[in-house]
Amino acid sequence: ISRVRGSPRPRLLLQGQRRSGKSSISSVVFHKMPPTETLFLESTTRIQKEPVNSFMDFQVWDFPGQIDYNDGTFDLEAIFSDTGALIYVIDAQDEYLEALTRLHQTIITIQRFNPAINIEVFIHKVDGLSDDFKLDTQRDIVQRTTDELADLGYDGVHINYHLTSIYDHSIFEAFSKVIQKLLPELGTLENLLNGLVSNCRIEKAFLFDVLSKIYVATDSSPVDVQSYEICSDYIDVVLDMTEIYGYDRGEAEVTTVEENKSSTGSTDDWSLPDQSSVMKLQNGMVLFLREINKFLALICIMRKESFEKRGLIDYNVQVFQQALERVFELHR
Ligand code: GDP
Repeated sequence: ISRVRGSPRPRLLLQGQRRSGKSSISSVVFHKMPPTETLFLESTTRIQKEPVNSFMDFQVWDFPGQIDYNDGTFDLEAIFSDTGALIYVIDAQDEYLEALTRLHQTIITIQRFNPAINIEVFIHKVDGLSDDFKLDTQRDIVQRTTDELADLGYDGVHINYHLTSIYDHSIFEAFSKVIQKLLPELGTLENLLNGLVSNCRIEKAFLFDVLSKIYVATDSSPVDVQSYEICSDYIDVVLDMTEIYGYDRGEAEVTTVEENKSSTGSTDDWSLPDQSSVMKLQNGMVLFLREINKFLALICIMRKESFEKRGLIDYNVQVFQQALERVFELHR
């Protein structure tokens, strides 16, 4: 696993051609910008390291699309060697042949510096496409990439593809998958969540990164889109309330590549007041949100009957929280 030097957090690199949607993605996912406002964003023209004020502190390096790798301006070793995942954004509503050529060049360049990097292709802006067309586009992109890399002698490179849009939850789900692959603690987190779910008769539990609304782990029962969306909407509601009435989470400051500083999480992250919140839904289900630390929140969906044993739930959540704290301490 590649991590930022001196920091336990995985680094993500977001790359793609001009107007492919990079700035929009980072604004919507990491800065809570409403998707329609991205229409007025300035296109990315420089490498920018976005400090993300989240538990993972994954750093999104917004790469302009027109970089020439071979002109010697960039220290490719420094850029790629500590990167956990390269996210390459392709605008599916536009001609994408040139974008693919750039993707193939990038993959080959990266092999020299960091062959272990995860390569994640976001086939983006699919909100405007019919389901059939989405799948055709994906098939075409996969086929061309596989063929091209095989021709060049790189047929062992594994690539993951995601259909994404900032207008629905697909962009958040794609990020969840990308992040989860970079978490060495994931297996342990899932086991802890499984324990919690069975002890408290919970239907589904997610551990969310609150600011980005990316879930970093969930129990091993299958994720259905509806429960995920409900939980993510619930975070919005709670967050809007806490922004007005709650405590200050602090702002992230913007740094550029040259100032490559990275802060490490302090133990203070764990010592904030515990907040929890409950909502009873019309269909007899209950949503339960509990802040785990400054960045993470546990959200559970359960039946009304299970929630009646509130003492049991509080106790188990507390045990879960302590275990989680130890897991992350061990990995520091
Ligand atoms: P960048 O140059 O890669 O940073 O691209 P921008 O973020 O500036 O996005 C270019 C345009 O694409 C903007 O007008 C966005 O509103 C639009 N855009 C970004 N993501 C989506 C998406 O998921 N769906 C649609 N329909 N448009 C998008």
